[in-house]
Amino acid sequence: MLHDTYQRTINYLRVSITDRCNLRCEYCRPKEGVSLKGHEDILSYEDILRVISAAVRMGLIKVRLTGGEPLLRRDFVDFVSRLAKIEGLQDISLTTNGILLENMAEAIYKAGLRRVNISLDSMNPDRYREITRGGDLKSVLRGIAAAEKAGFSPIKINVVAIKGFNDDEVLDFARLAANKPFQIRFIELMPISEVNTATQGCFLPMSVLRNKIMEHYQLEPLGKKKFISDGPAEIYRLSGGLGEIGFIHPVSSHFCATCNRLRLTADGKLRACLLRDEEIDLKKPLSASCDDDVLQDLISQAILLKPAHHDLDCTDRHLKKCHRDMSDIGG
Ligand code: SAM
Repeated sequence: MLHDTYQRTINYLRVSITDRCNLRCEYCRPKEGVSLKGHEDILSYEDILRVISAAVRMGLIKVRLTGGEPLLRRDFVDFVSRLAKIEGLQDISLTTNGILLENMAEAIYKAGLRRVNISLDSMNPDRYREITRGGDLKSVLRGIAAAEKAGFSPIKINVVAIKGFNDDEVLDFARLAANKPFQIRFIELMPISEVNTATQGCFLPMSVLRNKIMEHYQLEPLGKKKFISDGPAEIYRLSGGLGEIGFIHPVSSHFCATCNRLRLTADGKLRACLLRDEEIDLKKPLSASCDDDVLQDLISQAILLKPAHHDLDCTDRHLKKCHRDMSDIGG
């Protein structure tokens, strides 16, 4: 088992497989676009699989594929089937915006991936287009339906809560959780990089959403984590409903004490904390065909970089941000 300096078990790696995305969400990516990395600047699938295999031998059990938009990367399905063959890796999941999911869900499921999180900040087509700078809501809804049909379970829908933008849709999302076996997870907007200047003043603490939902629904807390993939969300069953509601509050009440994750960026940097800029480069040693010992030593070094907690505070006007955008790190 892997432990950091604060005795936390580290068993989860979030892997960004591309920095490219087919959306430009206002709080995630700069309007003018980002300078995209070339093929030679990002890790090959072979190198990603090498890192994951090395980490699994050290005690890693969970991997989440993210980006950018992971479904944009070529040969994704084949990559998943290779990943699913890594012995000892117990859980593989995916975070996607769902735009390309309709035509890929079945193949991804067959390749061995069972859990999917789909990002959806509004169920109003105009608003969705606005926040994503051009996204088509219907494609996402078709993607969700295809994931359901293919057999993905659980299907989690990630909703970043944005004051003045989607706070009036909270009950619509709760209704979706009542009618469908989905887990709707509201997430606090994090002030990452400079992109968030556009959304400053839009922070909405989870307590506000929870209280609003409780005026209309009975929420039964689900104490124990049901799935190995369940993360820091505070999860409730909607009484009488099919689905669940989760609240993720990294800002108003951080869960760093139970953080079990590392992140691998598309360009091969290991990050110990989403909100800290320290990184360990794996790309160079991988390109030089380093030994597994070297790789494992670098993974251990990254784990030792994990801070006790991040420095975000929603009441702090001079927020300490990390330099990279969320889409660049892999959310
Ligand atoms: N393209 C994929 C998607 O849309 O799900 C994966 C990458 S995206 C960066 C992963 C998640 O990060 C999305 O759910 C997105 O809403 C979330 N995210 C991005 N920036 C965020 C921020 N500043 N605060 C909270 N969540 C954020």
